Amino acid sequence: MSTDDNGDRKRPEWAPKEGGDGFATSVMDGIESTSPRPSHGSPRRRDLSIDDHVEGVLAGDRGIVARTITLVESNAPEHLDKAQEVLRRLLPNTGGSTRVGVTGVPGVGKSTFIEELGCRLLEASKRVAVLAIDPSSTLTRGSILGDKTRMERLARDDRCFIRPSPSSGTLGGVARKSRETMLVCEAAGFDVVLVETVGVGQSEVSVREMVDFFLLLMIPGAGDELQGIKRGVMELADALLINKADGGNETRAASDRSEFEMALHYLKPATEGWRPEVRTCSSATGEGIDQIWEVVERFVDETKKSGIFERRRGDQILGWLHGMVEEQLKLRFFSNGEVKKRLPGIERAVSRGEVPATAAVRELLRIGGLE
Ligand code: GDP
Repeated sequence: MSTDDNGDRKRPEWAPKEGGDGFATSVMDGIESTSPRPSHGSPRRRDLSIDDHVEGVLAGDRGIVARTITLVESNAPEHLDKAQEVLRRLLPNTGGSTRVGVTGVPGVGKSTFIEELGCRLLEASKRVAVLAIDPSSTLTRGSILGDKTRMERLARDDRCFIRPSPSSGTLGGVARKSRETMLVCEAAGFDVVLVETVGVGQSEVSVREMVDFFLLLMIPGAGDELQGIKRGVMELADALLINKADGGNETRAASDRSEFEMALHYLKPATEGWRPEVRTCSSATGEGIDQIWEVVERFVDETKKSGIFERRRGDQILGWLHGMVEEQLKLRFFSNGEVKKRLPGIERAVSRGEVPATAAVRELLRIGGLE
């Protein structure tokens, strides 16, 4: 990611112009955009009203979609009510997209695959949004989609919207924001939302909980070692896709496919009534990409007919609600002044074996006003 002298990212030419409104407006600009920027004397662009946000998003105005996502991602307390009111009004227009999660270890070809698939979807007149949930970005301020040289073809197309992972907050917080970002994209009329995440074991569950179809990318010949690590993730997948089946790797990819098909037989399917499929593809040549999308479409068709699709979405909303309650309780508890003051002493007493942990918990909850 290139930066200018102020340490800010250079804006890709296709991105909306920045107006010095205290918010970043570029769709690629997820990192700085998580908090309002001081205006440094530059003329402030008019704050959008709730009506402006709602009408702009519903009209599919990319600039306003980007600013609305920025608002939704903001950690500033003064933005919370406004963001929630905008979301509440957008809600009746959400739910219309096909939500697909894409995961796999770094280097497996996720962004190459998403670019190839995304371009094909655009050719088929579908509008595509690409979001990322990247737990590492909260530590490094990097992002799996932060590098604008990736997905260049998609990024240049204005029917496509690419949003990197918010760079601050816990994974739970990032996932919540990404979920709300997804709703904004749906209200703006995007037909397909692709949610990319790094397959490192933490964020897959969060993504599984917000998508309809979950796709795990593999590479040929990754062997037992990877299967071992990935077993938990395999159980979340509706399809396994062996990428890089090209340049002499085709035979190995085909034999991996049969092996994974066997292995999946022993796992509980991630989606009731759907047997996960294993396919091979090359994101470099495009071979097999249309076919995997056919699998997604068949999945959506079948699960809609059986009612599983709607049921899962319903469960996901409730899971989201409960997750947020937990997150808020934790946040309030640990930021309570009295808890902060007393916690270190109680921790010491517990680790020295002077106080039983259960008694300490009760005491802490009492201090925090929860008991
Ligand atoms: P990510 O980290 O999972 O997003 O992986 P990338 O999409 O950045 O790809 C990692 C590397 O693998 C890049 O050099 C890609 O060009 C290459 N790559 C991706 N897909 C394929 C493929 O289907 N075939 C081949 N031969 N190379 C690929």
